[in-house]
Amino acid sequence: MIQLVERAHAFATRTAIKSEGQDYSYAQLLAASESVARKLLNGEPDLNGARIAFLVPAGFAYAAIQWGIWRAGGVAVPLCEKHPLPSIEYVLTDTQASTVVFSADYAALLNPLFSNPAFVFLPAEELGQEKGPLPEVDPTRNALILYTSGTTGAPKGVVTTHANIEAQITALTTSWEWHPDDHALNVLPLHHVHGIINVLSCALWSGACCEFLPKFREAGVFELFRRGEVNVFMAVPTIYFKLIAYYHTLSAKEQEAISTALVKFRLMVSGSAALPVSVLEQWKAISGHTLLERYGMTEMGMAISNPYHGTRRPGHIGQPLPGVEVRLADENDQPLTATGQPGEIQIKGANVFKEYWGKPEETSKTFTPDGWFRTGDVAVLNEDSYQILGRNSIDIIKSGGYKISAIEIEEVLRNHPGVKDCAVVGIPDDEWGEVIGASIVPAAADLDLPALKAWMNEQLPGYKTPRKYLLQEDLPRNVMGKVTKQAIKDLFVNSSG
Ligand code: ATP
Ligand code: MG
Repeated sequence: MIQLVERAHAFATRTAIKSEGQDYSYAQLLAASESVARKLLNGEPDLNGARIAFLVPAGFAYAAIQWGIWRAGGVAVPLCEKHPLPSIEYVLTDTQASTVVFSADYAALLNPLFSNPAFVFLPAEELGQEKGPLPEVDPTRNALILYTSGTTGAPKGVVTTHANIEAQITALTTSWEWHPDDHALNVLPLHHVHGIINVLSCALWSGACCEFLPKFREAGVFELFRRGEVNVFMAVPTIYFKLIAYYHTLSAKEQEAISTALVKFRLMVSGSAALPVSVLEQWKAISGHTLLERYGMTEMGMAISNPYHGTRRPGHIGQPLPGVEVRLADENDQPLTATGQPGEIQIKGANVFKEYWGKPEETSKTFTPDGWFRTGDVAVLNEDSYQILGRNSIDIIKSGGYKISAIEIEEVLRNHPGVKDCAVVGIPDDEWGEVIGASIVPAAADLDLPALKAWMNEQLPGYKTPRKYLLQEDLPRNVMGKVTKQAIKDLFVNSSG
């Protein structure tokens, strides 16, 4: 039984989704997903784990199709319209998707793939009338394949079961006290755990309303904030960064109206990448809220979160969520005994994914022999709160015998008024192993780089100061807004010959 769907009967008359200017009730979502399921089944008793890919706008159609796939016994594979066509084709081929459901909005985008005989393309507009029974779906069955953001390499297909998803949802709905009267605004793409689980599925689990803004625009977000219905908002740091910049272009009167609306919010969350303390402070000045920062991954949903009640420590991700076991381990997967030592975050719990799709070796490599999931992220426990130092593969710079956190240096750089944004990487070096490189997006064209370098030398010990600097108009980012540091590393390597 799919709990998320079953629970919806209790909320039948309430509004589940607001999208394209329309309100859709839970009863409508149940009915629409039921007909999607029947259409997909096409008379068969059960999709038996067939992968159904889909590309439709974020909103009611998305939820109806995702639920419909689940109710037919299939595995949902949401696609992302911002990915280049070869990436979309890769996902279809990798998952061996039997059917691709698409809406008219994306017919032109997908058109070059229509001739591929491996896939059946089904217009979403044609879903809808069939009658017949639906299969019983056990929670241990595969539910979803989401691809990782591709920040450190090629995206990997992450398989989660219905039970995994339920554990991911309930950890958040309990901790963050989701309520039927909540009204969330989603601006996140729906091919990633952040939007799908933390916003949409938590809202629907709770009988709350999830509203969609089809395209992220600062003005549109603020307009919805001002309307006064939205009380839950979640975003990645880049989005808060953009909202802050836009806020400062507004008149004092407009700013006041927005701040007045924001103060009334119940919950504002940041995650998917480290939240710079400067962004946390600026957002607090605007909204009165200390953003609730949490830490998670496609492979496990959310694992560690700052408290809903209680102190949210800037630069920290908080404590393990209910049902999630967390430990820090050394290079040999031995749990750290001394506190204050950096170690890899390792996780156990019903929230943890089942496998990387079609990659048994990758899957087994990522679990310790005693079943802990190796996240590849390094953290330290400061008193009662974890602090992320970064990804072992890219943010932990190994230089002259030291292990240096890129995130820590970025925090210092951001305190300089001439720095609008920055990313710190390790550059291969014969003598030191790696030396520190800082890519800077200057706040103004006349940034005095020698002065910035001198300032950095005063802020940090020698081994932590960047040796090389690079000025960029913008940092390279993937569709989740995460900085793709490998591209910056390559620039450093190529520029120094
Ligand atoms: P790929 O695995 O393809 O390289 P990715 O790791 O970015 O991409 P996601 O699953 O979207 O794919 O992201 C999970 C990662 O995001 C975590 O492993 C962690 O490095 C980072 N992350 C998430 N939340 C936070 C946070 N609050 N602070 C710092 N980093 C975070
Ligand atoms: Mg990852």
